[in-house]
Amino acid sequence: MHRGKFLFTFLLCAVVSFASPVPVLAQETKPASAPRRIAIRAGHLIDGKSDKALDNVLVLIEGDKIVSVTPGGTAPSGAELIDLSRFTVLPGLIDLHTHVLLNGDITAEDYDKQLLKDSIPYRAILAARNARIALEHGFTAIRDLETEGAMYADVDVKKAINNGEVPGPRMQVATRALTPTGLYGPLGYSWEIVIPQGVQYADGVDGVRKAVREQVMYGADWIKYYSDRRYHFTDDGVLHSMVNFTDEEAKAIVEEAHRLGKKCAAHAIGSDGIEAALRAGVDTIEHGDGFTEPLMDEMKKKGVVWVPTIMVGAYVAPGRGGNWTTMVDLEKTAFQKALKRGVKIAMGTDAGGSDWKELNEAREFQYYSDYGMPPMEVIRTGTSYAAEVLGWSDKLGSVEPGKWADIVAVSGDPLKDIKELQNVKFVMKAGLVYKNEIQAR
Ligand SMILES: [Zn+2]
Repeated sequence: MHRGKFLFTFLLCAVVSFASPVPVLAQETKPASAPRRIAIRAGHLIDGKSDKALDNVLVLIEGDKIVSVTPGGTAPSGAELIDLSRFTVLPGLIDLHTHVLLNGDITAEDYDKQLLKDSIPYRAILAARNARIALEHGFTAIRDLETEGAMYADVDVKKAINNGEVPGPRMQVATRALTPTGLYGPLGYSWEIVIPQGVQYADGVDGVRKAVREQVMYGADWIKYYSDRRYHFTDDGVLHSMVNFTDEEAKAIVEEAHRLGKKCAAHAIGSDGIEAALRAGVDTIEHGDGFTEPLMDEMKKKGVVWVPTIMVGAYVAPGRGGNWTTMVDLEKTAFQKALKRGVKIAMGTDAGGSDWKELNEAREFQYYSDYGMPPMEVIRTGTSYAAEVLGWSDKLGSVEPGKWADIVAVSGDPLKDIKELQNVKFVMKAGLVYKNEIQAR
């Protein structure tokens, strides 16, 4: 700050504080106004943890928190009543894998165009729109897993949401993601042109540690790196891949992230990439199409969570061709094997890889259900299990006293038809109502 301006600010503060002692004291003795109380009458409640839905429950909210959940129950006098007695109430949904700064990338051309022709401010404006779409679909929290060339703009989107400037979900962000030099697009342009990169290139143990420190300095809640590329099948039917970082580099990324109190997510599609990421000690495996049973056992032993992102795989496959269609079928088989083996699965979509305006992220739940996961378990992947991954188990993921008042409602029964989650009618975040279509029924 300029010295003169500092002096002026100091004098101004001094004048204000010396000139007004009486009003400040008067304010301190005034009783604090009671927080706003809202009572939600839920016809059915799926609380995100219990095995069964509860009928006729009163959820009392004070300010931004849930204070009580009472079967039957009567609304206390003075509380504003929201009548959801003909609806099923659930915790706010959580998507663990989004890209709010991306708007569909079926082909390399789709991707490159966004990086080369759209400015970061323009992309941030669209990101604010995408965050609102996510919230209106019932997603009250997201983990945004890299900006795809938009530098640290995810930190700004999160800041604008947290400051109440724009509507959107709670966010944990990964900023730029990491690969070694030359292993992520845009690629193939003349060496004479300096073009933006989709990730931060980092090489060597010291190089990756520095990159992690930089990302944390600028606001990364998660560190994400690309474990592999070039997915290909071998005769044994296993999906293999080229591993990006050396073991020493990958371990240094994870270790440095953990040392700074951050968790680490690895993009890993082929079995080699998954194996390398598990060796490095990551917290979540993203995509994981090429999972083998031994790798599933290994991840279970280490308590690593799988975020499958089936929706986007199916969305991009027809346009990408090649192995992508087979990979969708392969992931279905892997998902069913993982279910049997008790692998921890939490919901993530890769929204942004698909067009935010086209696909509702809750489509992901339908795949889990179609692939054989029981509906209550499906709901937990995007509520209490996802909250655990975010380290926010004490704050969200269930409708319980003491949790943030992040609540959604649907008109049907998602335990009978999981597609109901794609038609959220009511959205509350931190005690504020962002969507209310209950009257239209
Ligand atoms: Zn992604």
